[in-house]
Amino acid sequence: MERKWWQKPLRMIRRDYLGDFKPFLESDMDKLAREARYVWKANCEWIMATPGCAPGTGHLTLLNSKKFEKMPGTGSRDILREYLPYAQKYRIRVIAYINMHWYSYEFAEKHPGWEQLLQDRTPYGRKHPLYGNGTTFCVNGQWRNWAFEMIEEVMKTGVDGCFLDGPVIYPGACYCDICIKKFKEFSGQERIPAFCDWKDPLWKKFAEFRSKSWADFMKDARDAAVKINSEAVVFLNGGAFSSSNILLGYDAGRMEKFQSFTGAEDFFHCRDLYLSPYTSLNLSRFLSAGRNPSVVFTHHALSTWHYVPLPEAELSTALFRQQQAAQIHGLLYSI
Ligand SMILES: [Zn+2]
Repeated sequence: MERKWWQKPLRMIRRDYLGDFKPFLESDMDKLAREARYVWKANCEWIMATPGCAPGTGHLTLLNSKKFEKMPGTGSRDILREYLPYAQKYRIRVIAYINMHWYSYEFAEKHPGWEQLLQDRTPYGRKHPLYGNGTTFCVNGQWRNWAFEMIEEVMKTGVDGCFLDGPVIYPGACYCDICIKKFKEFSGQERIPAFCDWKDPLWKKFAEFRSKSWADFMKDARDAAVKINSEAVVFLNGGAFSSSNILLGYDAGRMEKFQSFTGAEDFFHCRDLYLSPYTSLNLSRFLSAGRNPSVVFTHHALSTWHYVPLPEAELSTALFRQQQAAQIHGLLYSI
């Protein structure tokens, strides 16, 4: 059987502009696409549909849509539609990055009931501000329809698929009204268990409900993309070395059938957890244990000083080991 393009070896690249897209908007896009293909040897590129930067900009778009608010400073420019012809010229598949986990408090206040709640009814993002500032929404709430509409609008630009950076069901969440109502239907019980109370049998049911809720969201997200392009690829940021993460509610097996790749981050961070140069390679092996192709997301930066590029020698080492991983599996290299 002929394999689809995403089932063949891929090397993905994403250029990170953080919150300032002026350099991209003013660039020679033909040159950028040519470099992606011939210097970075990428056959797949991520283009930002929504920014992934402070103070939670997931609601702003870098594409033109009557339904969503545009990133300030981008005017009438639409980076997805503008870049696509250049990518296609150099046979690069385009995947749109959509930030689905990090929203500003200001945006949340316009949408009461969307935030993930802890058991004490505090929104998760108020007690644990995301990256220092911002909040996150519930996969079971009204936000989900907003999210699927965003996916449809992004797919209408003509991209080959979308990468969802979230949602995430965070530790301790979610105890919002909709989750409580849905859990009662799911369990047939009136009681709601305390988070991580292993002595309570109902907690295990709640853990199952959380991972099912996340997978249900992913199924509907996939359907939204496929509605616009039947060949769309869709995948989520998640997993890492845990196939089942109770605190997050992520279950790789449950999620697999609703995504094209099983992907996870393994950044080159200089700390004790990353002593081996083969951790990314090992992660891609682990992620490919199911039926989906795997992809490991890494980046060029030095941790502690997250946005300082790696020294040249370490960058070469990182690229070399990533090249090894890419020969077997997909790879995203973020620069
Ligand atoms: Zn909820």
